[in-house]
Amino acid sequence: MSTYAVTGAASGMGRAVAEKLTAAGHTVIDVDIAEATVQADLSTPVGRREAAAAVLERCGGRLDGAVMAAGLGPAPGRERPRLIAEVNYFGVVELLEAWRPALAAADDAKVVVFSSNSSTTVPMVPGRAVRGLLDGDIDRVLGALRIFGKQAPTFAYAASKIAVSRWVRRTAVTSGWAGAGIRLNAIAPGAVLTPLLEKQLATPAEAKQIKRFPVPIGGFGDPDHLADWVVFMLSDAAAFLCGSVVFVDGGSDAWFRADDW
Ligand code: NAD
Repeated sequence: MSTYAVTGAASGMGRAVAEKLTAAGHTVIDVDIAEATVQADLSTPVGRREAAAAVLERCGGRLDGAVMAAGLGPAPGRERPRLIAEVNYFGVVELLEAWRPALAAADDAKVVVFSSNSSTTVPMVPGRAVRGLLDGDIDRVLGALRIFGKQAPTFAYAASKIAVSRWVRRTAVTSGWAGAGIRLNAIAPGAVLTPLLEKQLATPAEAKQIKRFPVPIGGFGDPDHLADWVVFMLSDAAAFLCGSVVFVDGGSDAWFRADDW
């Protein structure tokens, strides 16, 4: 049986993954801002350091895998772009960098990072914001997003998911992670009916936009189905998957980008 760290394990898709892994007999070290074994606020550098250290202590220096599902959606608010950048990008990258030796100790560890199809379907996301994230320069990120005013959270969200996908693809193959046997991949869901999406649907203007968004298969994704994909990406059957971003989004990415190959 294996030991997995799961962030965002108190709700939505992270919770569904944690439940499936636990039911299969694995040990799950669950991380969240509340209602978790490791409680930490991933929107602050201190919270991220504490979370990283607490997991390392609990896993005894060996992690068979990690699932990075903690995230904030593009809700309105002046502070939201900063929080999105902190949790969705630094809350993934800083933890995984801290856990890398423990993942390498497992020989064939598997990591699944939650991206989003917002990474390919939101137009005009400023490259400066994405590069700012990858360079760890939050002021540059926020500066690049300021012109969007009240829409800034939407672009912050998309930028965070582009940056985290790019980080996954680069790190998987160019920083020795693959050489250390660590399979680093991302899943890019479309609209999945979790508390994150429910909050957005509760705002009439946002609900209208979400319902107008093209989903060829129709409807919303089921958190349980997405969790099955993640469990598969952690399994032996996914041993040859490395540096991939797997879109599970009812066809929206294909609808927008069918000719991009
Ligand atoms: P959710 O809101 O149900 O769960 C997210 C979890 O992250 C919550 O338990 C929350 O407490 C935790 N979290 C948020 N801020 C935190 C902080 N500062 N410190 C620690 N934990 C924090 O959302 P979900 O829909 O299950 O989302 C899971 C992941 O999937 C997120 O990264 C999200 O961006 C991504 N995603 C969601 C959708 C969707 O439609 N639901 C679509 C694409 C991608």
